[in-house]
Amino acid sequence: MQVWQEKMEQVVTDPRRLAQRFGIDPSPLQRVAERYPLRISPSYWELLEAPGDPLWRQCVPDLRELSDPTPCADPLDEGRLSPVPAIVHRYPDRVLFLVGGDCATYCRFCTRKRLLGDPALRVGEQALEQGLDYIAAHAEVKDVLLSGGDPLLLENQELEGLLSRLRAISHVEILRIGSRLPVTLPERIDDALCALLRRFAPLYLNTHFNHPRELTARAAGACARLADAGVVLGNQTVLLRGVNDSAPVLAALWRGLLRLRVRPYYLHHMDLVRGTGHFRTRIETGLEILQQLRGNLSGLALPQYVIDSPGGRGKIPLLPESLLELGDSARLRTSSGAIIDFPNRET
Ligand SMILES: *Cc1c(COP(=O)(O)O)cnc(C)c1O
Ligand code: SF4
Repeated sequence: MQVWQEKMEQVVTDPRRLAQRFGIDPSPLQRVAERYPLRISPSYWELLEAPGDPLWRQCVPDLRELSDPTPCADPLDEGRLSPVPAIVHRYPDRVLFLVGGDCATYCRFCTRKRLLGDPALRVGEQALEQGLDYIAAHAEVKDVLLSGGDPLLLENQELEGLLSRLRAISHVEILRIGSRLPVTLPERIDDALCALLRRFAPLYLNTHFNHPRELTARAAGACARLADAGVVLGNQTVLLRGVNDSAPVLAALWRGLLRLRVRPYYLHHMDLVRGTGHFRTRIETGLEILQQLRGNLSGLALPQYVIDSPGGRGKIPLLPESLLELGDSARLRTSSGAIIDFPNRET
């Protein structure tokens, strides 16, 4: 067994472990975890300092998850945009290919929260075959983004098979991987994986750091190995109330990422997912933070602030020309010119 696989066997899933370590009452955590499971990887577990700290909030159940009035469980309507089970095809030239069913740490704010920990959602052999067939049959697809949980939790052999078959499709130009493992399971980014990934350039990997305290020596090592293997690194941050909704925190995060050769790519406004309302900021918060940082921070460090519009209409960059109106409901213009309303209140 590889080191990373041993680490995966040590993930914390029982709220009583938190209760023991931090001297708190496990029962509220247990209630929430019955509905939305708990999982914390060993590396992330070591980073927790105290109840309510910014890393704690990202991975420890909170009673507010059960009382969130957000109506929708699948706001992006990924169901409707799936021509075959493992593919989400929303933009003409690129697809999401959901190849991995699990993550090393379950983020409490996850857009796919409703699916986490559900064994029925493991992506099967047949779904992968159908996905590959779909991509092969659609010559307009130039860019395949592996996601779905965390693709890097696939074993090397499986990952290599998948990447080879995608590379064999002549119209597929770019491969991308979305993975939080550089943050949550840096042991996974070992030499064997990097040697494998090196063969599939141009390969882009978007990782997911949300707080400067996640910029550990181990995470830095993981990013360095990937960059040395020729993998082009980007980062997606989710704007989270009580975690990173301040200019100094995001400045430290994004500056730190550039030092690790990771380019901040997106700052995501929170999706309208049930059970995550306590993380949602107002749109003004993100705009003000970026406004404060612009000019004070290298342009390379500034990501694009985007909102994923409900109903599967795609990402909208939050720029003055797409913001028609702000208030308790924001009126936004999508890239195709459609007008949508997005609730803009903290719950
Ligand atoms: C975000 C996303 C992509 C990738 O979009 P980019 O803006 O090119 O990074 C592709 N497909 C879906 C469904 C997405 O949500
Ligand atoms: S790593 Fe991504 S997919 Fe996995 S739980 Fe976190 S937000 Fe969800």
